[in-house]
Amino acid sequence: MTQSYRITLLPGDGIGPEIMAVAVDLLKVIGQQQDLNFEFQEALIGGAALDAMGEPLPAQTLDLCRGCDAVLLAAIGGYQWDGLPRPLRPETGLLGLRARLGLFANLRPAQILPQLLDASSLKPEVVEGVDLMVVRELTGGIYFGEPKGIFTTELGEQRGVNTMAYSAAEIDRIGRVAFETARKRGGKLCSVDKANVLEVSQLWRDRITLLATDYPDVELSHLYVDNAAMQLVRWPKQFDTIVTSNLFGDILSDIAAMLTGSIGMLPSASLGAEGPGLFEPVHGSAPDIAGKDQANPLAQVLSTAMMLRYGLHQSKAAEKLEAAVLAFLEAGYRTIDIQSPGTTVLGCRATGDHLIDILHQSQPSSR
Ligand code: NAD
Repeated sequence: MTQSYRITLLPGDGIGPEIMAVAVDLLKVIGQQQDLNFEFQEALIGGAALDAMGEPLPAQTLDLCRGCDAVLLAAIGGYQWDGLPRPLRPETGLLGLRARLGLFANLRPAQILPQLLDASSLKPEVVEGVDLMVVRELTGGIYFGEPKGIFTTELGEQRGVNTMAYSAAEIDRIGRVAFETARKRGGKLCSVDKANVLEVSQLWRDRITLLATDYPDVELSHLYVDNAAMQLVRWPKQFDTIVTSNLFGDILSDIAAMLTGSIGMLPSASLGAEGPGLFEPVHGSAPDIAGKDQANPLAQVLSTAMMLRYGLHQSKAAEKLEAAVLAFLEAGYRTIDIQSPGTTVLGCRATGDHLIDILHQSQPSSR
């Protein structure tokens, strides 16, 4: 029986609509090939929503997102909205969406594709074969803990305060996502904390260690965050899946991402306890190249593959999309941001057309 999914599309601003169009075309082909039916519903977010409806996250958009199987977002933001007060900023719409959907787990893979080895700032022998995933807790920790603020003491001195706090339940739920993720990958999980100094990290380590008994097939290790940062640039190949708190994950996922050297290639997924996940590229709306057909849609395509794997549990369809991206690069095609001598540079639309051809070629009877 054909499996049906309702997908909310949020193209957003800048290059968003261009790269989203590529993803949707590919999903239609994948749907035909894998006997999946995608029902698309499009909504406004960010600057586009602000211009049309006066707010960056309209209630209609939130409703459509809540009532679907997965949300695919491109990017939000642009120079014209930069000076607005915070509640009206495009970013506020995106942060609001993540919060309202209860997305507590952020998954960011960093994979070095052999064809883009030269894009990394590290030596090829260090990064070759890197394929890791950072699972970051997204709705707790020091970004949300109370008390927080800038206070004035009795002596009249200003004091800035943030609080790093995690409950056992918060640690357990991100831990479970991480163990499940490691299970779908190489079966190794490294938990990163600062348990030698922070009590909150000691609880983190205790809970993750306890959880490991439910996942005997996953090999668990622990690292302090300072060492983890060093190891990521020293020998990143040792990592498969990393799980860590909000603050540490913010920093480590950027280090991991930059191992690859190309922002136009990086996807992400944000998952909640129930309800739809949100899948989006790591990059922004690239207003400098918007409307020029120069955007690299591959991060959007790889985010779509993450949606298929982690949001809809359609791993085979995800693998097909990922294989198409690899075949595209293998054939020597590049977008302008990842071009190198001897490669053929294509625009956003032509990249999409080539990916569709590759999908058809992988399944000749699908045309
Ligand atoms: P950016 O990621 O949009 O762009 C940084 C640089 O990378 C630019 O030179 C851009 O042309 C290039 N780039 C980014 N994505 C690319 C792609 N797919 N193909 C080719 N080149 C690409 O970051 P920025 O310039 O700091 O921010 C621009 C706007 O995007 C801002 O309004 C910012 O708030 C917003 N933003 C949104 C998100 C999001 O939607 N999640 C994330 C970051 C920034």
